[in-house]
Amino acid sequence: MAIITKKNRAESNTNYAQGGIAAVTSKEDSIELHVQDTLQAGAGLCKEQVVRTIVQEGPARIAELIQLGMHFSEREIPQSNGARELDLGKEGGHSKRRILHAKDVTGREIECALLAAVAEQSNIRIFENHLAIDLITSQKLGQPAANRCMGVYVLDTASGQVETFRRAHHGPGDGRLRKSLSLHDESGHSHWRRCRMAFRAGAAIANMEFIQFHPTCLYHPKAKSFLISEAVRGEGGVLKNIAGTEFMEQHHPLKSLAPRDIVARAIDSE
Ligand SMILES: Cc1cc2nc3c(=O)[nH]c(=O)nc-3n(C[C@H](O)[C@H](O)[C@H](O)COP(=O)(O)OP(=O)(O)OC[C@H]3O[C@@H](n4cnc5c(N)ncnc54)[C@H](O)[C@@H]3O)c2cc1C
Repeated sequence: MAIITKKNRAESNTNYAQGGIAAVTSKEDSIELHVQDTLQAGAGLCKEQVVRTIVQEGPARIAELIQLGMHFSEREIPQSNGARELDLGKEGGHSKRRILHAKDVTGREIECALLAAVAEQSNIRIFENHLAIDLITSQKLGQPAANRCMGVYVLDTASGQVETFRRAHHGPGDGRLRKSLSLHDESGHSHWRRCRMAFRAGAAIANMEFIQFHPTCLYHPKAKSFLISEAVRGEGGVLKNIAGTEFMEQHHPLKSLAPRDIVARAIDSE
């Protein structure tokens, strides 16, 4: 089995995620509450069935991560003789504490656990610096039956060679073929490239107008900006304007813990 990745194996958005993952794991919470919070934060634009599926499957996926070796932060239960429970944080748009985290490096810890689990499987090989360029589908190969993914063209960015990875067969080898085509510079690796690839393969594309703006980052004229996690507001951090005045009250009843689009627009209007 092959996993391809365009840079090194640890380089991903996941690696940078800090705050944590929202999932229902506490007795004080419920799937229905999480669904309603999500639909509300989605301002009526979410597909409810998709929201329900993701929220319902969340706890099982968390259990799976824990089984694979992920350690989420815990806290001692008060007056319990040292018993421990998951330390749940709060973030914007959530009516309950439901953010599981590993200190402030949640994504990195998840990625470490997953990479360690992959390393234990002798039948999985990771190809670093391999950029997917296009999916090979049965229709593109002129096969009239239902459209299926048969493989992928991949640029080895170290050698400049394009390789063909074929859909797994039952047999030895990693399914790789080399093409005698050379590409040089590779630019514009992006979300759009992946959407275009899916579109060319026949996938329906929706909601292309949506890009998430994370509302808060550290600004310093002489330093590189970086994202300030919503967990900071979850633990009581309050947004103030340059005059030191709180302003979120005028924008949403959840104030600084309003959904991200509302917080981002409020900051912009200030
Ligand atoms: C600073 C920061 C903080 C965040 N904090 C949180 C948080 O607290 N909670 C939360 O839920 N979310 C958070 N997010 C968002 C979260 O990280 C992402 O939604 C999530 O990691 C996406 O996971 P993924 O597996 O889909 O993508 P990724 O983790 O980005 O993995 C995609 C992988 O595919 C590779 N790849 C991409 N294109 C190609 C290609 N064409 N060919 C080959 N390989 C390719 C990439 O190199 C990468 O390794 C944060 C994001 C950032 C940047």
